[in-house]
Amino acid sequence: MPEVKLRYPEADLHCHTSASDGLLTTWELVKQAAELGLKAVGITDHDTLSGWEKAIQAGKHFNVDILKGVELNTDWAGVEVHILGYEMNPKAMILEDKLSELREARFNRVYRIIEKLQDLGIPIQKAEVERITKGESVGRPHIAQVLVNKGVVNSIREAFDRYIGTGAPAYVPRLKITPEEGIILIREAGGVAVLAHPGIYGLEKGIEQWVKVGLQGIEVNHSEHTSEDEKKYRAIAKEYGLLMTGGSDFHGEERKPGVRLGGWGTSYEIVEKIRNLAYSHHV
Ligand SMILES: [Zn+2]
Ligand SMILES: [Zn+2]
Repeated sequence: MPEVKLRYPEADLHCHTSASDGLLTTWELVKQAAELGLKAVGITDHDTLSGWEKAIQAGKHFNVDILKGVELNTDWAGVEVHILGYEMNPKAMILEDKLSELREARFNRVYRIIEKLQDLGIPIQKAEVERITKGESVGRPHIAQVLVNKGVVNSIREAFDRYIGTGAPAYVPRLKITPEEGIILIREAGGVAVLAHPGIYGLEKGIEQWVKVGLQGIEVNHSEHTSEDEKKYRAIAKEYGLLMTGGSDFHGEERKPGVRLGGWGTSYEIVEKIRNLAYSHHV
């Protein structure tokens, strides 16, 4: 009988830290990655590059290779499409400018949601939400957490269903960019554009048009993908000659129960392929 080996991925290319909505600081996350024996992690916080510097320091300290990333939320006619960008040129101001615009819109949106909740008679203050964000990228999960802490609702899910989810009474739409805009932005900044977890929303129909504007990879292995999703997107990636990446979408065990760092991912070879593609743009 052949020896059955437990295979862990070498690299987890989709991780969130407290620079956006993750629970661990970059340092804690990279330390944990080292303890798990990961060779590389991709730091892909939402709309910010601010975790990079500390991640690289931690990576040197713990001997973990850091892939500099970002995750952009985009809107495809009402469907959420997340685009991962890797190894953008840090000098590309075009990306930093757009990200600060998106972050500012995110802050304003959160304040408008809080005002709506106050109008509904819920005693919630901006300061309470700010206190639990730690990082800079405040979002609806933070509001939901405050509602849970105050006993207004019993769970994050109930907060979304009853108050702040799409169509609920305190819902406020967000400033949106299209997937094409997201891909072009990452490419113009010299990075590699990868479609995140397409299985969650069933995005196969959009891939052809996104490849035309510069999409270079698909996240095939992801904590919310079924084995059918994996098979489907592996085939699509092959058809278009796209990189196949993988990552857990780790946010901290308490924020996303069951999603372990390094539980999903890819081989180190993919990290090298991403770097090669990115460096060929930088020149
Ligand atoms: Zn995502
Ligand atoms: Zn993510």
